[in-house]
Amino acid sequence: MNPAASIANPSPARPGDPSSGSADLHLHTLFSDGTFTPEELAQRGAELGLATMALTDHDTVEGCPRMAMACSGLGIEFIPGTELTAEFEGHEVHLLGYFLDVHQPKLLAEIKKFQSVRQERIREMAARLNKMGVPLRAESVFALANCHSPGRPHVARALAQEGLCSSVDEAFERFLKKGRPAWVPKYKISALAAMDLLHQAGGLAVMAHPGLNHCDQIIPRLAELGLDGLECFHSKQTNTQSEYYLALAKRLSLVVTGGSDCHGLSKGKPLIGGIRLPAIYVEKLKQARLS
Ligand code: AMP
Ligand code: FE
Ligand code: FE
Ligand code: ZN
Repeated sequence: MNPAASIANPSPARPGDPSSGSADLHLHTLFSDGTFTPEELAQRGAELGLATMALTDHDTVEGCPRMAMACSGLGIEFIPGTELTAEFEGHEVHLLGYFLDVHQPKLLAEIKKFQSVRQERIREMAARLNKMGVPLRAESVFALANCHSPGRPHVARALAQEGLCSSVDEAFERFLKKGRPAWVPKYKISALAAMDLLHQAGGLAVMAHPGLNHCDQIIPRLAELGLDGLECFHSKQTNTQSEYYLALAKRLSLVVTGGSDCHGLSKGKPLIGGIRLPAIYVEKLKQARLS
């Protein structure tokens, strides 16, 4: 069987028809570790017939104003967002924020802290690589990343570009995956504080790709503590997982979201549009914001 066939797709793609499912609510640009500009991403979305797109770059909202402009010019509804790395009872969770006021001072101040931690982490990764005799300079990574939210994918790309690794995949396998010699743990805000931050910025807090986190037992407590939604549809979640999380979202009165988690061309064919969330869920997300 084609493994791709078992990957969740909430409805078949019929480009241009919003009722067939035409929202992608998990997307990255080169403001974090994606490779597309906001304009390129919006253009791809238009070509795929997307009606709604959300930008969820890691620890930044900087791409949102440009993405809003680009989407507006293409007749696409835009939701400003972010993806924060948080921690709850020892588990790493990624929290998506939607409908954020991207100018809210507290959000921007906290994001600045996350970004400086990311930059420090790149220096630490380079130092560990250097100790192993791999001569990668942090400055090369910063130059390649050219953004305020650098991450491991940028280190991997720099290693590949400088011929210190044969590919990005090899860089992760040899050095950067959790437990590998240049892996450096990332500072994580508590999930409670992250949800507060997103709420104070006028947004909703949604748990990203629960199927990748292996900590379903914490979801009911997060829901009690303010979680608004669950990413039931994601490129790396199977149909079985989607059905499971749909039922869980219903039981816990969480809104349902979905997105491709496209990072651009960094991992072969872009994932954008591979998940097409039906418009009804976008409507419910908007209602949750107002309630
Ligand atoms: P960071 O936030 O710096 O820890 O980097 C996390 C990012 O690295 C995520 O956006 C993933 O898409 C990417 N990533 C994680 N593991 C791998 C891997 N094995 N190969 C390629 N990319 C990966
Ligand atoms: Fe990423
Ligand atoms: Fe994530
Ligand atoms: Zn993501």
